[in-house]
Amino acid sequence: MQDQVHVYELLPAYALHCLDAEEASRVAEHLASCAECRAELLAYQTVAGRLALGAPDTAPPAHLKNRLLAQVQAPQAAPARAPVRTRRQRAAMAWGLAALVLLVALVAGASTVIPESALLTTNAIAAESPSEYFGLLRLSW
Ligand SMILES: [Zn+2]
Repeated sequence: MQDQVHVYELLPAYALHCLDAEEASRVAEHLASCAECRAELLAYQTVAGRLALGAPDTAPPAHLKNRLLAQVQAPQAAPARAPVRTRRQRAAMAWGLAALVLLVALVAGASTVIPESALLTTNAIAAESPSEYFGLLRLSW
């Protein structure tokens, strides 16, 4: 397995089950055929297993329980609500949306209705004299 690309950089996260599914699958596939990476993974798993047991037992301060219970039992603030819109605001939003849809439909329809020769003429005017082109646009709107 000398040509094999090892997965050393992914092994710590793999030992802690922190990889996404694709990466975990890639590592598992590699581990099936690489004893070197399996040994490295075993070392990481051993350390990860000892971490939880490594912290010394400590008694919490006496007042901590009372503080926690007071916070849990305290009335909670009401969750934030979405802003309530008035009927007029909803109607304005609906009209705005309808106008936008109409504008998009007009633009899309205009591009299919305008004959190609007219577009070529317009493009020729725009290429030769941009100020005249924009003057025509102003007149058409
Ligand atoms: Zn390997």
